[in-house]
Parts: sequence; structure tokens; C-alpha cells
Amino acid sequence: MLNARAAAKHLPAYHPPLAGRQGLRLDFNESTVGCSPRVLARLRSLDAETLAQYPERESVEIQLVQFLGLDPSQLLLTNGLDEAIHLVCSTFLEPVDEALIVVPTFAMYPIFAAAEGANVIELPADKDFAFPLTDLLQRITERTRFIPVANPNNPTGTAVPREVLLEIAQAAPNAAVLIDEAYFEFHGETLIDQIGCIPNLFIARTFSKAYGLAGLRCGVLAGPTEQMRTVRRVASPYNVNGVALAVLPEALSDQTYVDRYVAEVRNGRKLLQRELDSLGLPYWPSRANFVLVKIGETHSDFVEALRARGILVRDRSSDPGCHGCVRLSLGSLQHTQTLIAALREVVDELTLGEVRA
Ligand code: PMP
Repeated sequence: MLNARAAAKHLPAYHPPLAGRQGLRLDFNESTVGCSPRVLARLRSLDAETLAQYPERESVEIQLVQFLGLDPSQLLLTNGLDEAIHLVCSTFLEPVDEALIVVPTFAMYPIFAAAEGANVIELPADKDFAFPLTDLLQRITERTRFIPVANPNNPTGTAVPREVLLEIAQAAPNAAVLIDEAYFEFHGETLIDQIGCIPNLFIARTFSKAYGLAGLRCGVLAGPTEQMRTVRRVASPYNVNGVALAVLPEALSDQTYVDRYVAEVRNGRKLLQRELDSLGLPYWPSRANFVLVKIGETHSDFVEALRARGILVRDRSSDPGCHGCVRLSLGSLQHTQTLIAALREVVDELTLGEVRA
């Protein structure tokens, strides 16, 4: 009888609530305005010849390394940042190895690590989701082979200082330390300058958030030349499709468009946080394009009341340490203002006074 590997059979399923997403989508940290019009123009100009050919990543990777200040040997385009995580896990994790993951965080780290049969060790964050550096350093063993850190983190929006990340990489020389910079543009701090200087440091980025291209499935993995050589062997040669490769140069070269959107998100972040202060709703100051808010026992009603007003947000109550929490994504300034107006009504309707008191 055909039998799947035990590691595969016992994997937790990840079912993001993607069905029926009608309305203002503030539930997946996507861009609410979409990509640069230049990307769309390029997309519309594609011909049969482009689609007939097997995609070739190299020329786009060269443009990207120039943009990021890297060497071509240090970079691989991936099918979304998700694939970057998957590739790091497949390249470095044996079934006897350990993955050290501070939670709450992005759900795919434990899934991809467990898929390799590795032992996933989840460490709870400190109070207010502060990074538990001392605990983490104590848990590092010779078997620790994968330490992912989302910076800023999802769903909390909190960031880890550069020195802390460097200390982790140094303390775990046998581990691939993956800094997930999916929300880099909204934070503004990066460790990309350390690629190649630290032998076990990897950085991943994505075009899904600030660039408004989540549907295109494009991400980036950067790491030391030696290690990336092995990662490339694990990757499919055509992991990034020809349509994505054709339009990415336009996305990259229209930085003005991205900068304008990022500025709106950052302004909206200030506005939303100020509003939450005045509504008396506790939240964690965010460095990303979303804010995690503590709603309390009525979290499901809160999500439903916003949905009734045409706004989708994400209930994060079942994430570790997030009971009663809802994540609100930020969009264009106008979209954030729409959210704020709806929030005022919902807080009134649900008399969230108990949380406020
Ligand atoms: N990392 C983090 C921290 C994320 O929040 C997400 C998306 N929610 C991803 C990775 C996946 O990004 P992509 O769409 O590029 O696969």
C-alpha cells in the first residue's frame, strides 16, 4: 500500500480563509491599491512567444542584485517568500534536527520545518511579544538547524533590533538563521548588508506586500554564496513563471509608486494607532502594514460587525498568546480612513467599554 511519509501525514493543514473575500480586504496584509500601472501595461503587452518559452530567471536576478547591492551568486528568485522558507527547510533540515521558532509568528515556518520531519520547538514571546532572546539562546543546541525570525513579525507588528538578530546568528553557527523581511518596506530596517559577512544568515523578501503583487507569487532569498549554491540545486529551475519574470523589472523600476504607497501606509498607521488610543482599544505599536488589536471576548462579533460594513479583518485569537486579538491591515490612506470610520461605529455598537475600562 502506498503510504505517505509520517512527517507529511501529520502536518497541520494551513487553510487561510480565502473564500468569499468581498469588500475592503484588510485581512491578508495585501496592498489595497495593487501594483504599479507600469506592471499592468507590461502584462497586457505579453505575447504568445513569451508564454511559449521556459522562463529564465537570470536577467531579472541581475536587476534585483543591483537593486539590493548583492552579488548574483547570493540571490535566488522564489515563488513567493513561502518558497524561500520551504527551500531553506529542505536544504538544511534533517529529521533529527531542530527548528527553533518564537511564537506567535508566521504559520508556514513550523509547517515547512515539520514537513522535513524536523523537531519543531516553539518558544513563547515575552510580555507584549518582546523577543525572548535569553530563552532562545538557552535552547540552541548542536541540532538547531533552522531559526526563522519575521522582522517585523506577523501578526504582532513588533520588530527585533539588528544586534539581537546578529547575536542569534553568531550563537547558532549550525543553523540557517532566516530573517523574513516580508514587511521591510514599512519598517525601513534591514540586515541585507550582512549577507555574505555572516556564514549562516539568510534574508527573504517579497513582492506580495508593498509592491501589490501577492497573486504573482514572487519572493527573494539572499544568503552566502556557498550555501546558495546548494539551495539552487534543491529549487525547481522554473520556480518563477514567465509572466512574473516579464513584469518584475517594471515593478522594480517604478520605486516612486511603491514609495508613495508605503508613505500612505505609514501615515495611516499613525492615524489608526492614535484612533485606537482614543477609543481605548489596546494594541501593539506596529512596524508593519497592520496593527494587532486586543478586542477581548467579543473578537468574533467585532470581525463580523466590520464584515457587515464591508471590511474584512483577520481574527488572530487562536494564535499563541493572542486570545481576543484581531489584526487590522493598513491600506491606502483613504482605505485606512474608511476602516477608522467603521471602527468608531463598531466600538459603539458592541460597547467595547469593558475592554476600555
Ligand atoms: N512571511 C511573512 C512574515 C508573511 O506575513 C507572509 C505573508 N502573509 C509571507 C512570508 C508569505 O509571503 P509570500 O506571499 O511572498 O509567499
